[in-house]
Amino acid sequence: MISKDRMTQHVMDIIKIDSHSKREKDVALKLQKDMEELGAECSYDNVGEKVGGNVGNLIVKLKGNKSEAPPFFLCSHMDTVAPGEGIKPHIVDGVMRSDGTTILGSDDKSGVSIIVEVLRTLKEKEIPHGDIEIAFTICEEIGLLGAKYIDIEKFKSKYGIVLDSSTPKRLVLRCPSSDKLHIKVHGLEAHAGLCPENGISAVKVASEAIAKMNIGRIDEETTANIGLISGGVATNIVPKLVNIDAEARSHDKEKLDKQVEHMCNCFYEASRNHKIIFNGEEYSSSVEIDIERIYENMDVPSYAHVTKLVDKACENLNHEIKHHTSGGGCDANYLNNRGIECVNLGTGMYELHTVSEHLILDEFYRSAEIVLETVKLNSYNN
Ligand SMILES: [Zn+2]
Repeated sequence: MISKDRMTQHVMDIIKIDSHSKREKDVALKLQKDMEELGAECSYDNVGEKVGGNVGNLIVKLKGNKSEAPPFFLCSHMDTVAPGEGIKPHIVDGVMRSDGTTILGSDDKSGVSIIVEVLRTLKEKEIPHGDIEIAFTICEEIGLLGAKYIDIEKFKSKYGIVLDSSTPKRLVLRCPSSDKLHIKVHGLEAHAGLCPENGISAVKVASEAIAKMNIGRIDEETTANIGLISGGVATNIVPKLVNIDAEARSHDKEKLDKQVEHMCNCFYEASRNHKIIFNGEEYSSSVEIDIERIYENMDVPSYAHVTKLVDKACENLNHEIKHHTSGGGCDANYLNNRGIECVNLGTGMYELHTVSEHLILDEFYRSAEIVLETVKLNSYNN
């Protein structure tokens, strides 16, 4: 029922429009035009200003043609990661790729094009549906900022689908909570050749802390990583400062708190072990830690209304789908926590955030069919 050619052309067109995070305006204007051609109402919120971007979230409302049908929510993000400028998509054997020098940007333009195609099909085939509410979000890739600050009161839908994961053979129901840690380890500067005993090496303190830390896979639902580390000025100076950025994630908030506490304690303990007496005064290393909750977990039950709608849609299409727990966050994390029950459906995109990113077109089309069927089923559901 969907037009495969049309959606393929659409995704190629919008992939060619650069849209790094905070620079989504050009793609938003193109989508606004596409949506207005279908008679949908478009508006932008002020989240762009809030986060320093050039455009806000694009909010689209397509009026239903079946008044008693409940509204339904769809969401994909417009921004892409780097290197994502001047992308040249091409298709070989049913797989879309970039030329190998950039990402493809099917994350998440494939989701965007699926939504556009579903709306076009609804209109063209005059399929009965309730109001469709859409958020084309900004800045997903830099901390889900579009979804984080979106004014949820703008939407009446109770249920929806976010299109932002890998394969439509999986329906993501669970995503972890995530904390980001910024750690400053302070030492004491001294000449490394003349009087190293008068210094405290922040690098040594940080190394001791990290060496004792449990990171990587902590358990089946918890992970942790030290991602960035920098510090020191020159080889002949005992370094007085090391900056470290780290993260921890878990599907269980208590486990997350425990892991973060453990990571902090490793730094505090290492710092306590480094003291010197200099000119009769005691100096010690110190640690400052900022902890930021990036997002809360989502945990949509298998028996939830929206899960059952998508499951039923797949059954009608003879399509096998498995419920899935993801290790990454998505816009649905915020949306679920703020009152729209959303699952995250895959779009056929693979090897995201790499220059090998590719889109399997059969899965891309399949995902659109699932969304269309879900919207149809939702309109019977009142
Ligand atoms: Zn994405």
